[in-house]
Amino acid sequence: MFDLTDGLQARRRQGLYRQRRVLQSPQGVMTRIDGRKVLSFCSNDYLGFASHPKIRQAFIDAVERYGVGSGAAHLVNGHSQLHHDCEAMLAEFTGRERALLFSTGYMANLAIPMALLGRQDIIFQDKLNHASLIDAARLCDARLVRYRYNDLTQLERLLREHQQTGQRRLLMTDAVFSMDGDQADLPRLAEMCNRNDSALMIDDAHGLGVLGATGAGSCEAMSLSQQQVPILMATLGKAIGVSGAFVAGSHELIETLIQHARSYIYTTATPPAVAAAVMQSLDLVRSESWRRAKLAELIDYFRVKANGLACRLMPSTTAIQPLIIGDSERALQISDALFDAGIHVTAIRPPTVPNGTARLRVTLSAEHDRSHIDRLIGSLQPLLQENSQKSRRSGVD
Ligand SMILES: *Cc1c(COP(=O)(O)O)cnc(C)c1O
Repeated sequence: MFDLTDGLQARRRQGLYRQRRVLQSPQGVMTRIDGRKVLSFCSNDYLGFASHPKIRQAFIDAVERYGVGSGAAHLVNGHSQLHHDCEAMLAEFTGRERALLFSTGYMANLAIPMALLGRQDIIFQDKLNHASLIDAARLCDARLVRYRYNDLTQLERLLREHQQTGQRRLLMTDAVFSMDGDQADLPRLAEMCNRNDSALMIDDAHGLGVLGATGAGSCEAMSLSQQQVPILMATLGKAIGVSGAFVAGSHELIETLIQHARSYIYTTATPPAVAAAVMQSLDLVRSESWRRAKLAELIDYFRVKANGLACRLMPSTTAIQPLIIGDSERALQISDALFDAGIHVTAIRPPTVPNGTARLRVTLSAEHDRSHIDRLIGSLQPLLQENSQKSRRSGVD
């Protein structure tokens, strides 16, 4: 076996070492982690559905009827009636012709260019896209061209420069940027794709459930049809509170994925109970709209309160509200100090975010209330003041 200790030590020295904390309670605002009761601000369970009693019950009932494991891939005999119904419901919910379930968002993203593009084709991506989109481009034969974060002027130029007849062109972007919380300008991207003969694919992992009047996500919020956004991908383990993901679009798109997407074909279907829980969750996304209203109100409250802190806020109106610290080690120290004070906020460091932009990724949930935010801000205030003094002293900014 080759030596692995040097690499691990180097990572530790750079303040980039990654460690897991152990959760000993259901997901929620108050959790038990590493033996401690903590107030959590880092889950993507934006609506508080991961342990909602009705969704739990739907899962349990489905286990009673269908058992636990799905037993095989969708194309063998693992595609249950529950998966099938869930796909129909997702298509209807998102206003698309069809939808296809995947085991994870990572795998759904891998599927898209792999099934649709060949060697002569080209992919355009925002540089801050989620790692799974970047990996999707790496794992297929098409060429990848990246543009600067939200720089649509550069993108327009690149789209014009790379034009070959017979070539398929695919633009892939996060709809809500997962580490920044701000949104891509989807109407303009759709218009540019239309003008430049490219297909638009969006990853709505952080939009589904929370954006749009009924929670159908970024396309609903921005009134974008299947024609404007022909490939819609979203995950079911975040606001939906369960697990898995789906791709939605035309009948032909879905059939092509079924034929060619290796991350769909060569893997066991998720337990049918997952699909049952997702269906129950979608019902609640629609009927409990107060959760979206409350979340929006908490986001406003957080931004007003956080304005007085000695760190940079991002221009985000979503539940993802990162506080930029800069230095990786400082971000980690502040996160650890918060944990000691009974508050859990993860420090996100390079390479997940660009160098020099380590941050505390604060996420809000409909289950929080104002007093939770007050407690977070109260604990952050002295820590960040110390932080800005230290950075001034060491000349780091
Ligand atoms: C979480 C996430 C994924 C991956 O989804 P999983 O279901 O967790 O594999 C993909 N894209 C974005 C933008 C995400 O935030």
